[in-house]
Amino acid sequence: MSITQINRIRINEGLFDLSIDLAKGVISRITPSHNASAGVNTGDARDAGGLQYLPATTDMHIHLDKHFLGEPWRPLQPFITLPGQLAFEKSMLASLPTTAAERARRLIDLLLSHGTTKIRTHVDVDPQIGISHLEDVLQVREEYRGIMDIEIVAFPQQGLLRSDSVSVMKNALRAGAEYVGGVDPAGLDRQVDRCLDVTFELSAEFNAGVDLHLHDPGHLGLYTISRFADLTAQAGKGGRTAVSHAYCLGQVTEAESRELAQQLKANDVAIITSVPLDRPMPRVDQLVAEGVTVHVGSDNILDAWSPFGNGDLLARGAKLAEKFGWILDDQLLQTYPLISAGPLTPKEGDAASFILVPAANAKHAIASAPQREAVFSGGKLAGGKWAEAAKEISYR
Ligand SMILES: [Zn+2]
Repeated sequence: MSITQINRIRINEGLFDLSIDLAKGVISRITPSHNASAGVNTGDARDAGGLQYLPATTDMHIHLDKHFLGEPWRPLQPFITLPGQLAFEKSMLASLPTTAAERARRLIDLLLSHGTTKIRTHVDVDPQIGISHLEDVLQVREEYRGIMDIEIVAFPQQGLLRSDSVSVMKNALRAGAEYVGGVDPAGLDRQVDRCLDVTFELSAEFNAGVDLHLHDPGHLGLYTISRFADLTAQAGKGGRTAVSHAYCLGQVTEAESRELAQQLKANDVAIITSVPLDRPMPRVDQLVAEGVTVHVGSDNILDAWSPFGNGDLLARGAKLAEKFGWILDDQLLQTYPLISAGPLTPKEGDAASFILVPAANAKHAIASAPQREAVFSGGKLAGGKWAEAAKEISYR
């Protein structure tokens, strides 16, 4: 069963009927609704009954290969040192009965059920596991092609220099990862400039983007981001680099973080946040005001680092809006570009990747993160209650 006509969808203040071109995966026609379509659920047509249209969400920081979804509960240990935590995670992952491919499918299905149709996943590589996780995720990416758009970051979780991961990173980039990852050039590798230089050498050699995990605090972190922005400009990589977490931007003064925000804007470096509650985070309102590209991601979901997270980007967007006191209509709406690449007002020819939710309007939807009635990806029904009711998820 395929749905090619959805009637009475709420877009802005009106009700509209949408036609879907399944072959192209796009919205082929949008017309004002007429009452005759009320209650009509026949063949390939559905009555949305006034459900609100939202663009599908984008999760720009996830780890497909290292969660425990679907596994028996595993108690965590206190975080004392980063190397200790890394060893703990490695032993936990080695004990899992599932392959990285099975874990990736579980998490992708969860993300689709919430309405996420594009992700950036970091995938662990190191000299012990080699690129085995990456090969699994590359295979799963093919299985979901056309349904879940997946960017892959080769991630030297054990430290790029510390764990001697440069050659395995080259293997990963050769195999198909399109981003060079990294973590804490100071805190883990203890060589900020050397670590960043090697990272950008890898990105140049493989024409890759860069996405760096950065937890290093205060002015140490600030220096690292500033160097990262310089190297982005030198390499001509503006628009293809990002710093994830960047807690330091919430630890220095507002004047200091504004100055760095202006450098990020000038050099087109994005900041990606998981909206942590338990530590300082970048001043997203300041970054947005300065024109910096900001994305939101789930990061850890039930893994060795955190038992929290459910992969719901609409809920995470609501958390961000609440944290920064975005209660006015315009403020609520400015959350969407952080969690989605799609428009709130679709036009004919746009990708048919959207969510239908019970909400009065898009402002209400971001504030309340309601249940997903339907999720469409590339024109196909991919999640939500409609898919469950049909006992069919059409991407399978
Ligand atoms: Zn991460």
